[in-house]
Amino acid sequence: MDPTVDPRAKSFVPVAADSHFPLQNLPYGVFSPRGHDTPRVGVRIGDMVLDLAVIQDDGLLDEAELPDGVFACPWLNPFMGLPVPQRRLVRDRLHRLLNVDEPALRDDRDLRARALRPLAACDLHMPVGVPDYTDFYSSREHATNVGIMFRGAENALMPNWLHLPVGYHGRASSLVVSGQPVIRPQGQTQPVEGAPPVFGPSRLLDFELEMGFFIGSGNPLGEPVPVGRSDEHIFGLVLVNDWSARDIQKWEYQPLGPFNAKNFATSVSPWVVTLEALAPFRCDAPGQDPAPLPYLTEPDRHTYDIRLEVHLQAAGELQARRICASNFRYLYWTMAQQLAHHTITGCNLNTGDLLASGTISGPDADSYGSLLELTWRGTKPLLTAEGAERRFLADGDSVTMAAWCQGDGYRVGFGEVTGTILPARPLPPPGR
Ligand code: MN
Repeated sequence: MDPTVDPRAKSFVPVAADSHFPLQNLPYGVFSPRGHDTPRVGVRIGDMVLDLAVIQDDGLLDEAELPDGVFACPWLNPFMGLPVPQRRLVRDRLHRLLNVDEPALRDDRDLRARALRPLAACDLHMPVGVPDYTDFYSSREHATNVGIMFRGAENALMPNWLHLPVGYHGRASSLVVSGQPVIRPQGQTQPVEGAPPVFGPSRLLDFELEMGFFIGSGNPLGEPVPVGRSDEHIFGLVLVNDWSARDIQKWEYQPLGPFNAKNFATSVSPWVVTLEALAPFRCDAPGQDPAPLPYLTEPDRHTYDIRLEVHLQAAGELQARRICASNFRYLYWTMAQQLAHHTITGCNLNTGDLLASGTISGPDADSYGSLLELTWRGTKPLLTAEGAERRFLADGDSVTMAAWCQGDGYRVGFGEVTGTILPARPLPPPGR
């Protein structure tokens, strides 16, 4: 077994039993100590952040032979692009440094003060500079629900859906880190079927519960990634909220798919959890019938058991209510298949690219990963913590998603991705 995921190992940094960030996780993020200093790369342990720029400067990572300044950087990208064995060495070394039995950091008061920062005194930033963002549509339950609503039960799944992981090229520029507010978008909609379109703030604003993975080393143009070699290219995963304006989407999506309905904001969680940390939570992926074509047939088909929740805190209310409980393992198309399909044309992926799963709905009505499905297109409003009704999101509403793997007495998790809806902004004057 990889010693860095040994459930018995403990850190000298206190970690609560329900913390998402024990010694077995060690996710990477970008932070700055509040009020000063430039952003740099850190690793989360309990409620502390280990400053990797300081650790590298003090020579504690010398055996990994890293490029100078790889962590004194506002993005994870330079580190993500390193070869997998080199990154594994860093993880091994960090795991040892934070271990309760290892004195090098534990007993060095000066180093601890410089390198270990309380999370509460740090600002977290977008962890990765994302060159390109792709969003898939890989949940059979989600695609079926949406298909039933828009095309009827007979034609719920499009004829291609069971043969390829459907996706679209999203917008990387509007990716934001958890906590950044989301301004309600304005756009064209057609409230009355057959009538002319109108312009104004979206009235059907929604969330989508997703996860995404970042590319570590990319592939050269013209060289597809084989389905059995995805692990060499996946750096790690985050939670993703793909905010969606359903009324804009409905009017614009034919014939070329989502455009303005999705390009105003997509939120990601700040800590990137590596494949190494997720390895103990590997599990079978759903069976596929019909069998996929050979380039999508996995030699070792698997996914990960990651529990997912969505909490809604309505405007003006003091408490949130859990409105969805789902699981990453429900997805029909795996990350390996998404990667193989994306690159089968020779399309090149670059370090830092984000590939998101699509809405992760499960089989039960409380496992649907969007308001569109939870309220069945607004026909079955849900109740907030204090009994108000919601069909779609109101100004001031906050949506918080959480994800974790449950071990025996510990968790390896992603923390949260959260965002609050701000009112639409008045348009600037048209100009001359
Ligand atoms: Mn989506």
